[in-house]
Amino acid sequence: MAQIQGLAAHAAGAELLPFRYDPGDLGAQEVEIGITHCGICHSDLHLISNDWGISQYPFIPGHEIIGTVTAIGSHVRSLKVGQRVGLGWQSNSCGQCEWCTRGLENLCPYQEATCVHRHGGYASGVRANARFVSPIPDALPSQQAAPLLCGGITVYSPLRDHEINPSSRVGIIGIGGLGHIAIQFAKVFGAEVVAFSTSTGKEEEARSLGAHHFVNSRESKAMKDVAGSLDFILNTANADQDWNVYIQALRPNGTLCFVGVPPSPVSVQAFPLIAGIRTITGSPIGSPHRIREMLDVAARHGVRATTEAFAMSRANEAIDKVKKNKVRYRAVLSN
Ligand code: NAP
Ligand code: ZN
Repeated sequence: MAQIQGLAAHAAGAELLPFRYDPGDLGAQEVEIGITHCGICHSDLHLISNDWGISQYPFIPGHEIIGTVTAIGSHVRSLKVGQRVGLGWQSNSCGQCEWCTRGLENLCPYQEATCVHRHGGYASGVRANARFVSPIPDALPSQQAAPLLCGGITVYSPLRDHEINPSSRVGIIGIGGLGHIAIQFAKVFGAEVVAFSTSTGKEEEARSLGAHHFVNSRESKAMKDVAGSLDFILNTANADQDWNVYIQALRPNGTLCFVGVPPSPVSVQAFPLIAGIRTITGSPIGSPHRIREMLDVAARHGVRATTEAFAMSRANEAIDKVKKNKVRYRAVLSN
């Protein structure tokens, strides 16, 4: 098997440098993908800087991958060489535990991530268990579909789990890679959507993506005005905020759900949780079945990531732009 050429971080927070590795023999259940596109998810930045204490160097980041199947293992029946496919955060699971057999592989205790302790998608190729490799519907262009493989499923799955529907009032915190897709799916599910953002310059685009209201989350009066108005709030921001204000924005029985990872512990007053039976929860990516459903919904309902294109060789420049919150709304690398 040919060597895979990529861009790797060699130390916490370091610039990515060209890096080659030999992937060895292809496993019987594995697929090799020749990568055409890879989105830059903020989780890649967390991994590069070892924010979560799980990074091993050198490693190639990247887990919003689209490409073409270049080889299949001897036991793979579900995919063909030449087929256009996608791969997200998860690249394997045990296949045998309670969670895998219930179709909730994203909860498997033995799951493997595409670019944790292995090499990901800022590269010429990548390998994964075939169960985690999804065909891409023809209606979705690769550039706009790559961010759906992690960002898209991460926001789609909790909206489905919490049964968002036309009677729902939904808030989305942080209009970045995840948030701008979340607005679109919440709109597709028929909800009234409020975008909470620290960037006033995003208002027009947030509205054009489907937000009915735009709230500058740094304005305390605007935040007070939404008190008691929302059934479900999805936090996609990776920063600390006053979560009490968002708990107050919930109606009774409302839920604040974390998909974005703020650095500090989440601290809230208990009384509004008690008095209104309000819930705080979280959600990790989504199962392979959900990913395929999400791609189909995106294809049929016009959900597309708004992207900025960068050649793979310009990955460091793109990462820098993500760090500065300057990308509208997802940087996608291409080979
Ligand atoms: P992103 O594109 O960088 O967007 C994050 C957004 O957060 C920014 O666009 C910004 O939105 C907001 N933000 C940034 N700094 C802020 C601050 N100081 N105060 C308030 N808001 C701030 O990142 P992403 O790729 O969407 O990822 C977001 C988070 O989700 C990351 O923590 C990532 O690791 C996590 N994630 C989790 C999962 C999961 O399975 N749960 C999957 C993928 C990613 P505004 O400009 O609108 O304020
Ligand atoms: Zn991600």
